[in-house]
Amino acid sequence: MRIIMLGAPGAGKGTQAKKIAERYKIPHISTGDIFRANIKNETELGKKAKAYMDQGMLVPDELTISLVMDRFKEPDAENGYVLDGFPRTIPQAESLDAALREDGSQIDHAVNVDVPDGAIIERMSGRRACVNCGATYHLQYAAPKKEGVCDHCGDGLILRDDDKPETVEKRLKVYHDQTQPLIEYYAQKGVLKEVDGTQGLEEVFSQITAVLGE
Ligand code: ADP
Ligand code: AMP
Repeated sequence: MRIIMLGAPGAGKGTQAKKIAERYKIPHISTGDIFRANIKNETELGKKAKAYMDQGMLVPDELTISLVMDRFKEPDAENGYVLDGFPRTIPQAESLDAALREDGSQIDHAVNVDVPDGAIIERMSGRRACVNCGATYHLQYAAPKKEGVCDHCGDGLILRDDDKPETVEKRLKVYHDQTQPLIEYYAQKGVLKEVDGTQGLEEVFSQITAVLGE
């Protein structure tokens, strides 16, 4: 099963993608996580990506598309995946389509996690991320067992630089300009599935499993 998660930054794509990956036994591929791992390891790609990410801008398509194409070559992605944070532009979606056509495969579901901008600000200002393993929490809705400490690896939790309010506004604008048109793109392909992302974590997941219908 090949699934794309659509939705604004902070809508809950990553949270739901992890649950989908576990339930359907497919890898969770997050371009944001891949960029953050590159930044942590101080790679050339990480240095380039950081300059854009810190400003709430998208990393250029030529860097992002090749990264995802390389990830697809890994054996775990052979029979499906849940893509989180990719595609984010029409050219990225077209490149993905071209690669899938070559393989004789296609996207089965594009799940749009719909959350209005007002709620996004609250989600992102409360999000905390582990500096070591990247696990995410929310101060109010998905709190760690011990304040400021990751449940998974015990390392410290931080507010991501790009989750600070001034950057969130920029990211929302970028989302509306460049990423939101993908909703129509996938609707036209007949694979769009809409879910109400304002509900609680488990309720959103129930909606998703219902629309995936498998
Ligand atoms: P995205 O991957 O779309 O950027 P995340 O999955 O990281 O978003 O979610 C953003 C923040 O909102 C996180 O702190 C997460 O714990 C929280 N969150 C996600 N889904 C919900 C929900 N349904 N209700 C309340 N908080 C949520
Ligand atoms: P995310 O963790 O998905 O919110 O992504 C964090 C940041 O990484 C984004 O604000 C972008 O700067 C960058 N990024 C992630 N995925 C992409 C993508 N598909 N295209 C361009 N930039 C991306």
